Amino acid sequence: MRRQRNAKIIATLGPASSSAETIQALFEAGADVFRFNFSHGSHSDHQARYEIVRDVERKLGRPIAILADLQGPKLRIGPFSEGKIMLTAGAEFVLDRDATPGTEQRVCLPHPELFEVISPGQSLLLDDGKLRLQVLASDGQRIHTRVIIGGPLSDRKGVNVPDAVLPIPVRTEKDRRDLAFALSLGVDWVALSFVQCPEDLLEARELICGRASLMTKLEKPQALDHLEEIVRLSDAVMVARGDLGVELPPERVPGAQKRILRACRLQGKPSIVATQMLESMITAPTPTRAEASDVASAIYDGTDAVMLSAESASGAYPVQAVSMMNRIIIEVERDPLYRNLIDAQHELPTSTRGDAICSALRNVTNIIGAAATVTYTTSGHTSLRAARERPTAPILSITPNLAIARRLALVWGVHSTVSTDVHTVDDMVTTACRVSREEGFAQTGDQIAITAGMPFGEPGTTNLLRIAEIEA
Ligand code: PGA
Ligand code: MN
Repeated sequence: MRRQRNAKIIATLGPASSSAETIQALFEAGADVFRFNFSHGSHSDHQARYEIVRDVERKLGRPIAILADLQGPKLRIGPFSEGKIMLTAGAEFVLDRDATPGTEQRVCLPHPELFEVISPGQSLLLDDGKLRLQVLASDGQRIHTRVIIGGPLSDRKGVNVPDAVLPIPVRTEKDRRDLAFALSLGVDWVALSFVQCPEDLLEARELICGRASLMTKLEKPQALDHLEEIVRLSDAVMVARGDLGVELPPERVPGAQKRILRACRLQGKPSIVATQMLESMITAPTPTRAEASDVASAIYDGTDAVMLSAESASGAYPVQAVSMMNRIIIEVERDPLYRNLIDAQHELPTSTRGDAICSALRNVTNIIGAAATVTYTTSGHTSLRAARERPTAPILSITPNLAIARRLALVWGVHSTVSTDVHTVDDMVTTACRVSREEGFAQTGDQIAITAGMPFGEPGTTNLLRIAEIEA
């Protein structure tokens, strides 16, 4: 089974997509990666979904990536005695450290760290940015504010502090437990929420210890100040527009998205555009045309993957949302303008042997019109560098390691396969031809371009480019 497109689709699993039938239908409709959102659901919910995804993988014989998305330090207010209040613009409102249920005058903010860093003039956003408070004074115990934008406010709504760098660790106790659990299941990717600075990634990297790849969710404007460094320390980066869009004014999100995608492409790190992509499909079988255009723009901008959140996790049309993304991506990639735009952003190879080979792979593919490029990879690195070149033919990635094959399911253009080690150049050519034909990428008479490293099976040795013809 092969996809008819290069960009990938991530579908979040949730109550609307937990049965074996639905998960298989989502995969068949086009989901390449399944996201487990640890902000919702119990460990046993995630475990059940994990087992189903692995069953689908076995049944259909295609590696599937599973992404564990850790909630991170999402700030929330406490509860209200009536469950809900109404805040009116111009009124004063206090956030304090008193756990007593809140009123129209005050509510608990159970995050002591915040009281130290907040200062007059700064804003606090409540409930995904729907309400805005301006800080008048803060004394370490109470934050006095004026309501700038009012509205209804209910128990435990989220709080965003766009103007301050918060002295809070990027991982909470819950994240620690969730991470240990996710790694014990065997997830392929771990996403870290609310990364503020490069240091946030170092400890996570140590804890994960190579058992999964590390995705940074860019949802704090402060993180944009260290964009290049964060991309360098991450294995992939998500433009998490939900929270990013709360902390940045709407008009600044599109530019930030493009900047993040450029930085990722330059370094050859997979990028993901996420949140509200087909939002109206939570309740309707078709998207708005503006949503279709949003998905398409992300593809034209060269992103590796687009993501569905509530659309596939809790919406009424999860499978339709994936098919719609699939159709949009195929249509964009057929447009000659797409190729122009992708080529216009082509980044020069760095001066490594691997990049030299991948750059040659791109040229050879163009010149001879190869049906596929085949990358032998031990660590996944060569397939990633080949993807950075955005070649005109699909990247058939061959690795002996199933865990690596699964991780690569996220990457632009990569059709990931597992095959036992090859030992000679003849072996390499025969296997590449056989796999290209079996997976539906080439027929008798087609040419393919193959990269590998000799000695075979050693990571970091990519030094060989070979053209082969598929024989009858
Ligand atoms: P979330 O992350 O869905 O976990 O909040 C994505 C986003 O903020 O866009
Ligand atoms: Mn978020």
